[in-house]
Amino acid sequence: MDVLKNQDPELYAYIQQETERENNNFELIASENFVSRAVISAMGTVLTNKYAEGYPGKRYYGGCEHVDKIEDLARERAKKLFDADWVNVQPHSGASANAAVYLAFMNPGDTLLGLDLSHGGHLTHGSPVNFSGIQYHPEFYGVEKDTGRIDLDKVRDKAKAVKPKMISIGASAYPRDFDYQAFRDIADEVGAFLWMDMAHTAGLIATDLLNDPLPYCDVVSTTTHKTLRGPRGGMILVGNDGENKLGVTARKSGRVKNTSEVLDSAVFPGSQGGPLMHVIAAKAVAFGEALQPEFKEYQQQIQKNAKHMADEFKNLGYNLVSDGTDNHLILVDLRNKNLTGKIAEESLDKAGITVNKNMVPFDTESPFVTSGIRLGSPALTTRGFKEQQFSDVVKLIDTVLQNPNNESTLETVKQEVQAICKEFPLYDFVEA
Ligand SMILES: *Cc1c(COP(=O)(O)O)cnc(C)c1O
Repeated sequence: MDVLKNQDPELYAYIQQETERENNNFELIASENFVSRAVISAMGTVLTNKYAEGYPGKRYYGGCEHVDKIEDLARERAKKLFDADWVNVQPHSGASANAAVYLAFMNPGDTLLGLDLSHGGHLTHGSPVNFSGIQYHPEFYGVEKDTGRIDLDKVRDKAKAVKPKMISIGASAYPRDFDYQAFRDIADEVGAFLWMDMAHTAGLIATDLLNDPLPYCDVVSTTTHKTLRGPRGGMILVGNDGENKLGVTARKSGRVKNTSEVLDSAVFPGSQGGPLMHVIAAKAVAFGEALQPEFKEYQQQIQKNAKHMADEFKNLGYNLVSDGTDNHLILVDLRNKNLTGKIAEESLDKAGITVNKNMVPFDTESPFVTSGIRLGSPALTTRGFKEQQFSDVVKLIDTVLQNPNNESTLETVKQEVQAICKEFPLYDFVEA
């Protein structure tokens, strides 16, 4: 269409450069993915113009008849995808969705029990530099040193000791599945709410390749842009709606509100203003794609590729946290290779392979250096990579990690990366 190119060549050039970077590198950041052209198209529409504070049928602005249909479509598709009683598609991001969850279930100062950030947890699960750790009182459970897995008996002991108002499940760097029934039992024992943040694994959960948290949790939050492969954004879901255990009563009717009503208010007006209708439209497109049978095959391939990558690394003598994976990511512990995460990330970057350094459990390095790297299969699986290509990916990573300072090796690997990328074309446009 070239509208941008003509009007704003400087900005266009930067977008073009980013498009080329995405086309020509191995994208292994576990939280990233490549959306379809239809998802990009929906975001670049006049829907960005519309103020639609409120919810379909109950807006604070006129002229919402069309955006109402769009939000309803997104909600209905999401409910079907996750077999949910209720969803809210308005959160601008995963962190915004989580802010609304806290607002609904916690008072300032209340205790959250979540997964330790250095054991794979997320910033919004109680980090001291995040609102979740500033406004609320965070306590943590972790993984075991020898297994890299969560020991549920220890979670129970900790829950009994700290009596949390809410327990969070979910992670950014945990390669294993969760036992939601066991967490539910613990939450019930101590009278806590149970919250799952499935930001990373939503696509695998939607297609029944991982355990389903919705029947067990009071609330589930997610991003829409990781394995789910939609636009950058967030969402909140409730599996079984009903009178909430908070006993919040509606001011006028004196009626106890449903969990969903409390959460709707926590998103708007509680923590956000107008929804991003162009992004909600793109969420509807992505959920429509995720309801197709091909999406399950795609998610199965994500999981197979991650397992294959794990096996290939192990064959080359690498240590993996928990010795493998159930989902879409692996965590490589580089200590036996005398490498830090920082050096690995930087040298791989020079060779056209994008990963992120990551703390491993019981890490002795600082968060800026780390002893590990996190690798995910979703983005390259979107490009069409299967086990065979992931064998090449691991071989090339190993070559770099054996020669992190050898510029000519890095250049040779970069050429090979680009050659493989050419065989799996990604975007042939800059403007959708
Ligand atoms: C990515 C992630 C988030 C935050 O999502 P943003 O859209 O970056 O705000 C929240 N929770 C978990 C577990 C995540 O992995």
